[in-house]
Amino acid sequence: MAYSPEVVKRARARLAQAKEDRESENRQRLAQAYAAVPRIREIDILLRKTMAQAAQAAFQEGSDGRERLARAREENLSLQQERAALAASHFEEGFLDEVPICQNCGGTGYVGANMCECLRELCRQEQKKEVAILSGGKESFSQFRLEYYPDRVDPKYGASPRAIMERNFQNCRRYALGFSPGSGNLLFVGGTGLGKTFLAACIARVVADRGYGVCYETAPKLFGKLEQARFNSTEETRREAAALTQCDLLILDDLGTEMPGQFVTSALYSLLSDRLLGGKPMVITTNLNVDDMGRRYSPQIASRLYGGFQRLTFVGEDIRVLKNRGY
Ligand SMILES: [Zn+2]
Repeated sequence: MAYSPEVVKRARARLAQAKEDRESENRQRLAQAYAAVPRIREIDILLRKTMAQAAQAAFQEGSDGRERLARAREENLSLQQERAALAASHFEEGFLDEVPICQNCGGTGYVGANMCECLRELCRQEQKKEVAILSGGKESFSQFRLEYYPDRVDPKYGASPRAIMERNFQNCRRYALGFSPGSGNLLFVGGTGLGKTFLAACIARVVADRGYGVCYETAPKLFGKLEQARFNSTEETRREAAALTQCDLLILDDLGTEMPGQFVTSALYSLLSDRLLGGKPMVITTNLNVDDMGRRYSPQIASRLYGGFQRLTFVGEDIRVLKNRGY
C-alpha cells in the first residue's frame, strides 16, 4: 500500500508523540518509585554496574573471564528478583514494567524494512482525514440523486440521461468497491454541474477507506505542485510531486481548468506516461472532448486519454441550475 509521503509523515509524527508520552509516563513512575522506595534506585545503579562487568568479562579470554561473567550474571539475576519483589509489595501490578507503545516494533513503526501494523493503522486514519478534507467530506454514493437527471429519452443518445447516469453511477460504485492496483482508468467527460466531481470524490473516499493511498487534486493545484517541484525544488515539493506519480489511485479533477502552457503539456504527458507504464490507476474528470484535448495539449495526450481510459459520458442538465430553480 503506497501512502503519500505527507500521510506517512503525519502518521509517524503521531506515533513518535505516543512513544514519547509513554516514555515520559514511564520516567514519572520510576521517579515516584525511587522517592517511595530508595532501595529500588540503588538496585538500578547496581544493575547497570553488573551489566558493565558482564560486558567486560565477555571479552576476557579463558576461565577467568567465564567465571567473572557467571558471577556478574548471578548478581544481576538476584538484584532483578529483589527489585521485582519490592515493586510487587509497594505498587500495583505492572507499575514498573516499561511496556513499549507497540510490542512488535517498540514504537519505531518498522519491523526490519516493513511498516509495522501500528503505523499502518495510523496511516489509514490520516489517509481518511486527508480525503475527507479534500472532498469536503460529504460525498457518498448513497447521496447521489438520479432524479436530477431527465428520464425522457434523448434522441442524441438513444437513452434517457437518467439511464445513462445510472450506468455511470453503478460503474463508479463497482470501481470503488472492487478497486485494486490492477483496476483500469476512468475518464469522466461532460459539461459543468453533471456530477463528475461528486462521483470522483465518492470513489476517492471509498478507495481511501479501504486502505489505499489516494491523491485527489484539481488540475490547477496538481500542476501547481508539479511546477513547484520543477522550479522550486525542495525535499517537500519533490515528495509531493512523487506522491502524484506513486499513489495507488490518482484523482485529477477538472482537467482543462488550469492555465494552459508548455509546462502543463509536458508535465501532463510525463504524469500520464509514468502512471500508465507503472499500471497505476487514475480517474480524470474533464469538460474537454477529444478534439479539445488534442488542440489544448497534444494529439499524443488526447490519444492516451482516449485509448488508456474507460470513458464515462456525463449527460443531463446543470444540477446547480436545477437546484437554484428549486427542483
Ligand atoms: Zn508497531
